[in-house]
Amino acid sequence: MIPVTKPYLPSRENLEKYIDGIYERQWLTNNGQLVQELTQRLEDYLGVENLLLVANGTLALQVAYRALGVSDANPAKRPEAITTPFTFIATASALKWDGVQPVFADIDPNTWCLNPANIEAAITPNTRAIVPVHVFGNACDVEAIDAVAQQHNLKVIYDASHAFGVNYQGESLLKHGDAATLSFHATKLFHTGEGGAIVFKRKQDLLRAQKMISFGIAGPETIEEVGINAKMSELQAAMGLCVLDEMEDNLKARAQVWRRYEHGLNPSLLQQAKRETLVYNYAYFPVVFQAQEQTVRVAARLKENGIMARRYFYPSLESVECLNAPANQPVSSDIASRILCLPIFDQLAESDQNKIIDLIEVETEQ
Ligand SMILES: *Cc1c(COP(=O)(O)O)cnc(C)c1O
Repeated sequence: MIPVTKPYLPSRENLEKYIDGIYERQWLTNNGQLVQELTQRLEDYLGVENLLLVANGTLALQVAYRALGVSDANPAKRPEAITTPFTFIATASALKWDGVQPVFADIDPNTWCLNPANIEAAITPNTRAIVPVHVFGNACDVEAIDAVAQQHNLKVIYDASHAFGVNYQGESLLKHGDAATLSFHATKLFHTGEGGAIVFKRKQDLLRAQKMISFGIAGPETIEEVGINAKMSELQAAMGLCVLDEMEDNLKARAQVWRRYEHGLNPSLLQQAKRETLVYNYAYFPVVFQAQEQTVRVAARLKENGIMARRYFYPSLESVECLNAPANQPVSSDIASRILCLPIFDQLAESDQNKIIDLIEVETEQ
């Protein structure tokens, strides 16, 4: 079976060295040495400041929402946030879970990211934030989104779960917004098994969030506000340090896979239009077919041959009933119905990849 993605498994020897250190120090969590080391190394690697490691990418979103005052302890205020329907469920469900109503605005048909032209119409007196997603690692229209946010005094939290290491206009894409969140889930490009991070624009927000992820505890006998447990453990950080040690090789291998698809697939298939100056991370290879029937047929044909392409992101989130945000999102719903993410990981064999390309060719010729 060829999965859509495989977790990157770094050198076991290297991992054991880090684990030996954990045993020596007998320190397993609560901002340990490895968490501090990974924080520093990720800030250097990504070229950012104010990075906070957390237990997973969903908590990264929740803590960012809370630290920036989007969600609060008073549900009577009925806060809302404008977000994209074309994303993984966690972007929107993390809002809903914390009492913030997600309000969808449709995506751009070429970049598949939140279309800034649709934001203003979705703003109400209860809107507190815009939550765009750099979907598949493409950059949102950050300039236009920042302008709308400034004009209406809204916070911007980018769900940058797919955008690890992506550069835009010569610097980290994560520098945009009041905060950008990352997921380090096993299936993501860079991972810690489970894990995540928040990159804050301002130091004061980082300091607040640092307390929040540890129950709101500010000192041995002081609890400053309601917090949660969102700490990353030393074992997670050890895995992250090892994956980071091998990042260059991982990226090289993925770039090769990515380019083979780009050259091998029929150019009539719709691909995501990357923003100008984007330096991509080769995290995903999505393609959009001509019609939903064709997508379903291709997926079935691949599956018969042991290849698990996935319909990311389907369904478009306005159709998810428990989110209670049913307004029509024609572009997102169209792209979602026709999209398929093809297998991409560092060890995907060229022969397997050629098989995938051939099977797609057969189905799309008909
Ligand atoms: C993976 C992902 C998340 C959730 O991250 P977890 O680490 O699995 O909690 C959130 N948003 C997007 C867009 C994702 O792809």
